[in-house]
Amino acid sequence: MEQEHRRVALITGANKGIGLEIARQLGRAGIAVLIGARDTARGQAAAGMLCHEGLEASFVQLDVTDADSIARAAHAIEAAHGRLDILVNNAGINEAGDGPPASASIDAVRRLLETNFIGPLAVTQAMLPLLLRAPAGRIVNMSSSLGSLAMNGDPSSPYYAARLIGYNASKSALNMMTVQLAQALRDTQVVVNAACPGYVSTDLNGHTGYLSTPEAAAVPVRLALLRDRQPHGKFIDAGGEVPW
Ligand code: NAP
Repeated sequence: MEQEHRRVALITGANKGIGLEIARQLGRAGIAVLIGARDTARGQAAAGMLCHEGLEASFVQLDVTDADSIARAAHAIEAAHGRLDILVNNAGINEAGDGPPASASIDAVRRLLETNFIGPLAVTQAMLPLLLRAPAGRIVNMSSSLGSLAMNGDPSSPYYAARLIGYNASKSALNMMTVQLAQALRDTQVVVNAACPGYVSTDLNGHTGYLSTPEAAAVPVRLALLRDRQPHGKFIDAGGEVPW
């Protein structure tokens, strides 16, 4: 009988914040976690911390804005595991120069789109062949309610006042990738969803968020561990489905 394989998960931007906590919770679920990080020292330290906690974790150098780094990571994962069961596109940035469309720094907006949208798209393209080899591949895109077009246009939404054209558009674009990828993968075993973690205390927002990283990791971890093919191509937060 075929031996049940240990699932392997790659989490981008996993050296700190929500990504590190997603890796920890997946590790506790018995999954071998690959800590994607652009900085070797920070990535190794995070993987070491999880190993010290008794989890199976290793570091993979991965800068989501660097095509060579992405290709090397895919190659290393293929060589070590032959497949990938879970991809969490978590790495993301904000930018001080971001702001309303009339005044945001164009360079800041370009960097936001490069890291928060082009990055996950490129990582997904590189990892897709490995995900398709897994018996039940799962992709989770770390989005934000700030990327919801519906909420951006709704004066009663708590997010209505957050006029960050670069950050918000980067997450809207990530949502579009989720919808299109879900359609393209509908006849495969790979399931893809977007997750909003809520407003979380991390370096990204100067620790102004009110949720802890363990609380924030709950939704993306649930989507990463989905047994069934539902939901597929949805945008999910702790309260359920988020309007696009
Ligand atoms: P964080 O603590 O600042 O962590 C961001 C992570 O992304 C870090 O590990 C960072 O690495 C990494 N990263 C940035 N650029 C990268 C690149 N080019 N290549 C690889 N890694 C890169 O932020 P967080 O709050 O945990 O955010 C995680 C995700 O959740 C982001 O996508 C964010 O947009 C999303 N999110 C956060 C909130 C919130 O309230 N915090 C709400 C909604 C969505 P370095 O340490 O090297 O910088």
